[in-house]
Amino acid sequence: MAYRARRGKLAYKILIGFLVTSLVPLGFVCYNLIKISQSSLQKQTLAMQVSMAVGFADTASKYVSTFEGVLSETASMGDFASMNPAQQKQYLQKILAVHPAVLELSVANAKGQETMRLSRYAGAGAPLRDLSQKDFFLTAMARGQYIGGLERFQGLYPDVRVAVAIMPPQGSSPVGVLSGTISLNGLSSMLAMEFPSTGQRRAAVAAPDGFLIADSDPREVYKPDARLSDDVLRIVSTQSSGDGGGEIHLSDGTRLLGAYAYVKDLGWIVYIQEPLNLAYQSALQMRSQVLKVILWVVLIVVLLALALASNITHPLRLLREAAEKLSRGEFEDLPQMLMTNDEIGDLAQTFSTMSESLREKTGELINAKQELEKSARILETRVEARTRELKAAQDELIKKERLAAVGQMASVVGHEIRNPLAVINNSVYFLKTKLAQVLQSDPKLSKHVKIIESEIQQANGIINEILTYSRSRDLKPERVALNTWLEDVLSVYPFPPHIRVDKVFCAENPPVDIDTTEMQQAIRNIIGNAIEVMPASGAIRVRTAMSGRDAVCLELADSGPGMPRDVLDKIFTPFFTTKARGTGLGLAVVRKVMDRHRGRVEVESETGRGTTFRLYLPVAAAVRSVQA
Ligand code: ADP
Ligand code: MG
Repeated sequence: MAYRARRGKLAYKILIGFLVTSLVPLGFVCYNLIKISQSSLQKQTLAMQVSMAVGFADTASKYVSTFEGVLSETASMGDFASMNPAQQKQYLQKILAVHPAVLELSVANAKGQETMRLSRYAGAGAPLRDLSQKDFFLTAMARGQYIGGLERFQGLYPDVRVAVAIMPPQGSSPVGVLSGTISLNGLSSMLAMEFPSTGQRRAAVAAPDGFLIADSDPREVYKPDARLSDDVLRIVSTQSSGDGGGEIHLSDGTRLLGAYAYVKDLGWIVYIQEPLNLAYQSALQMRSQVLKVILWVVLIVVLLALALASNITHPLRLLREAAEKLSRGEFEDLPQMLMTNDEIGDLAQTFSTMSESLREKTGELINAKQELEKSARILETRVEARTRELKAAQDELIKKERLAAVGQMASVVGHEIRNPLAVINNSVYFLKTKLAQVLQSDPKLSKHVKIIESEIQQANGIINEILTYSRSRDLKPERVALNTWLEDVLSVYPFPPHIRVDKVFCAENPPVDIDTTEMQQAIRNIIGNAIEVMPASGAIRVRTAMSGRDAVCLELADSGPGMPRDVLDKIFTPFFTTKARGTGLGLAVVRKVMDRHRGRVEVESETGRGTTFRLYLPVAAAVRSVQA
């Protein structure tokens, strides 16, 4: 489980996917929508401004042409040329009275000599001038009319000169020029009304050279050298069309939306400006509103996506928890999975089936494993037991082979020695009879003869034991009553006088099938050993007793010194002896005889308390079946 490199969560992936797929197109659409609306709004604002400029250009044109109309009407009146000066003056005074914008009226004859001048402020006493070289006079004479010559009346108020040719009632050449100076203050007040100075919007009328004719803020106009800003002038003068506009970046860093229009015939420029942020206010408002909407949409999309993501990932999380538990081998209390009606539900269903079969298979596997372990253990113990048995059998075989070889050799040696011994024995007997007299008189000689005899007997004993052990003859069992037969055997045994013999026989006197020769030899060997360990005095107890229904136990116990454990373990091993002249074959013969009778021998010994041999023999079969 330590593998877990933390992965990105599916919920976040879904969330991000949802946001990207929904918000990117939305953002794209909104961005373009805002751009389009903004530019169309801006265009609209600009168009409005341009149309205002055009409108005012028209107004300005009309303003001036009205006065031109008044003058030309007067000048072309049939009788004005023929009027006497008094009449003319009266007439002009009427004009002054009716049109307050007219500042001065002047009449000149065809030579350019001023004949009359009426001024609204200067009074009547002003000297008459020679106008023959004046632009307006020459133009009016040549073309019939003139508008131009912008000036500042009294250095402050902009005015324009309008001049028309005075035509005689008949004839085509002018007889003089009627001119007037018209105050242009009216334009400024019209602008001021249309664009109040409280607003940020400003409008102005200027001559192409920058001379400021009118302004929505009249204070601008009444400055002695009022001009339209050079920045604006430069931009407008580079335009080719009669009207237009756009964004203007002034050299002081302010950004404006400007529109202009040329006043027909006069060449004046009507210019309207507005700070850019104000002009585009509606567009900006729209943008901020759209942004707000987008923010809300984002918020809602995020919430929806979160809900959707958790809805999708919840069953998956449960699945993962279940899978983790499974991987730890915990099949019990897996989390309840949601079986939704979609692919995830299918997955949960499949998973649940899988975990069920996994559980079954794991159970089977565990059982099989336990079975296998059990079998392995059993096999192991069996192998161990067999190995032990095999080893024991092998050891036994080796021992038997060795003993067989030794026995064979011993038997050969025994046979070869027995004959010379018999010859020696005969010779001793012959010497004894021939030398009977001498032996009687010479006790020393007699003693040596006896030693020879006893040694021969000893050697014979040893040879007998060897031959008994190595002899392989067929068993010749005969049925005897055990107690009776045992009584006979004991009665012929030459017990020395210092040994007491106690007999305790069982009442059954059971019949046994025994080879009497071999069995007698076995009993003699045990008794012989007992007598040997009790040289001074002692007792031998002979006892028979039933051992169960099928066997009888023949017990031979002595009151000798007993033997230590390490000796006890080896006494049945052939050739094991603790005696200087022992063969170590006596008890080996006992065991061999008991084995041949399908019986067994047991020994119990304790140092200082004597030794007990127990020979178990099967009770004869016929009797057993009768008893049963
Ligand atoms: P051997 O008599 O030639 O030594 P046996 O096979 O008859 O060989 O006996 C083996 C050994 O067992 C003896 O050497 C002796 O140490 C021991 N032994 C046998 N019988 C007795 C007994 N009754 N008491 C003490 N030791 C005994
Ligand atoms: Mg012995």
